[in-house]
Amino acid sequence: MQLNPLWPEPGPKQSCKDCGWFFVGGRGAPVDRCRRHQDRRVSSTASACPAWEPTLDCQDCGACCREAYTTVEVSKRDPFVRSHPERLERVDGRWNVLRAGSRCSCLVGDGRYQCTVYEDRPRTCRDFTRGSANCLDARRRLGLTR
Ligand code: SF4
Ligand code: SF4
Repeated sequence: MQLNPLWPEPGPKQSCKDCGWFFVGGRGAPVDRCRRHQDRRVSSTASACPAWEPTLDCQDCGACCREAYTTVEVSKRDPFVRSHPERLERVDGRWNVLRAGSRCSCLVGDGRYQCTVYEDRPRTCRDFTRGSANCLDARRRLGLTR
């Protein structure tokens, strides 16, 4: 796959610690790890690899709320069902957040994205955190991450 032209190649000053896929975690004592490389251990001070990306900015990305997925299902017990019934549709007995074309109807913007119900967003969306394995999957689906 080609390098994403949006992201510069890492330079000599970049390290794992500056990368959007770096995290500290794991069982026992947390250690430095890389989400982009199957959560493998890395050294925070190691020079960046070619997959380096700058810290992720959800408002620049929006992949998970756009075309990466076609459905956001909401549990009937989710407070979102009561707070935003106008944003839901019933499909095969389940609640889904309404789509507006290829993206979530709660998302606005083009190039810079914003969720209009962010404070009340469904649990499905709260579980979808920046830099997570789900985030990596969403960005890959749109070709934003290699
Ligand atoms: S993608 Fe490369 S630079 Fe980024 S944390 Fe992983 S190993 Fe380090
Ligand atoms: S969680 Fe990840 S995929 Fe979703 S908007 Fe943020 S950076 Fe993009």
